[in-house]
Amino acid sequence: MVKDFLVFLDAGHGGIDADGKYVTAPSKEFKHSKGTFHNGGWFYEGVFNRTLTDRVARKLRDLSIPYYMVSHEYKDTHLSYRVGLANWYAKKVKKSLYISNHANAGGGSARGFEIFTSPGRTNSDKVAELHWDNVKDLLGDRIARYRSDKSDGDHDKEARLYVLTRTSMPAILVEHLFFDNYEDAMQLMDDEIIERFAEAQVRTIIEAQSIL
Ligand SMILES: [Zn+2]
Repeated sequence: MVKDFLVFLDAGHGGIDADGKYVTAPSKEFKHSKGTFHNGGWFYEGVFNRTLTDRVARKLRDLSIPYYMVSHEYKDTHLSYRVGLANWYAKKVKKSLYISNHANAGGGSARGFEIFTSPGRTNSDKVAELHWDNVKDLLGDRIARYRSDKSDGDHDKEARLYVLTRTSMPAILVEHLFFDNYEDAMQLMDDEIIERFAEAQVRTIIEAQSIL
């Protein structure tokens, strides 16, 4: 198995098991007082992450772009396992890219979109910038706020997150709006918003192949 390019897709946290139980830490869910989400008023971040990541995977399949899903269908597998999978397969291919999909929580009033990379200037920043532009193109003013840190000249924020610092290939972590904000959470249930976020990610993956 030698491929030129392989994308690692990571739907953050866990999803819903065979008994219908959400198998993720309480900080990754939020009960809204109105609206209908994944289980009545409950919004489950891991379920959104899977809905979006599965959409990205379907598009990549349609385009015959090789990808490997490092997250489990529903289990909240350890980050070291997810990253370990990616790092093993990365040695078998010429180029690869890791994308971790999340939604944010910020206490209720925070809204918007942001992308994280590891500290310092790396190829991950270039990929993040491509993705920033693709999300702006496809979602525009549908998104309440684009949250960036321009202090180092690009739009991504930087953090020492495990999936960003332990991966051997360029990696971005995308925070798609705030699931504990009602308006943002409603958008995350909107199929057109999900579709546009997924399409932006596919375009980023296609463009990343030529800059990595
Ligand atoms: Zn998350």
